Amino acid sequence: MVYFIGAGPGDPELITVKAKRMIEKADIIIYAGSLVNPQVLHGAKPQAEIHNSASMTLPQVIEVMAEGERAGKLTVRVHTGDPSLYGAIREQMAELERLGIPYEVVPGVSSFLAAAASLKREYTLPGVSQTVILTRMEGRTPVPEREQIEKLAGHGATMVIFLSAGRIHELCSRLQRGGYEPDTPAAVVYKASWKDEKIVRGTLEDLAERVRSAGIQRTALVVVGGFLGDDFCLSRLYDESFSHGYRTSGTGSDKESL
Ligand code: SAH
Repeated sequence: MVYFIGAGPGDPELITVKAKRMIEKADIIIYAGSLVNPQVLHGAKPQAEIHNSASMTLPQVIEVMAEGERAGKLTVRVHTGDPSLYGAIREQMAELERLGIPYEVVPGVSSFLAAAASLKREYTLPGVSQTVILTRMEGRTPVPEREQIEKLAGHGATMVIFLSAGRIHELCSRLQRGGYEPDTPAAVVYKASWKDEKIVRGTLEDLAERVRSAGIQRTALVVVGGFLGDDFCLSRLYDESFSHGYRTSGTGSDKESL
């Protein structure tokens, strides 16, 4: 059996109870050494076999899993954040299916959620944006033409951009070209939830320069949008003049769709 688990963004306490239990039971652990905090492996059995996938190819990873399966062992594959985002997990699942090896996925706390927590902000503010776009700039992996940064920026929604902090200058100009005003608030969160986390705040006009002077290149998210500002409407959820399925109001009897 193979378990894919999300290790969370960095802080070893931001792992699910289930994923932690899997690490404690694992006979074989394969982890993405470039991003996973090694502290999340602390509860592993002393005899557990531990592989760092940073130096492995896909066939090598699959071979470790297949060998473990033949020996009746439990393999835990540790991905950073949540494995469903830029985790290269699908190609592994496809191989396991081809080989008839059973597997399960345990979700994790993605770095984009840890970033909101560190910023003490809510991505979906009433009157500002009710949509979060998670994306990246193309790198070695291409991005479909219809998802180019300029096109996504046209929505004016909250945007969280992965894997792109190293090209922050280009990113900020493309976001403006796409329609965000130069004074749109933006921030970079480096190593969200780690001990050496750093936050750089600014606008689309000056963020790139600030990030460059802070020396941030990788393990960082770029977040953009009015949600970083201070203007928003109050939510209907806690509005005393509205009733809803769980609360009846003193003044109105209308059921509002929240
Ligand atoms: N599956 C991961 C993303 C892996 S892609 C997740 O759910 O978070 C790797 C990219 O994720 C990095 O380039 C960076 O943009 C972002 N990232 C991962 N961990 C991070 C962290 N602790 N703080 C900020 N960004 C992080």
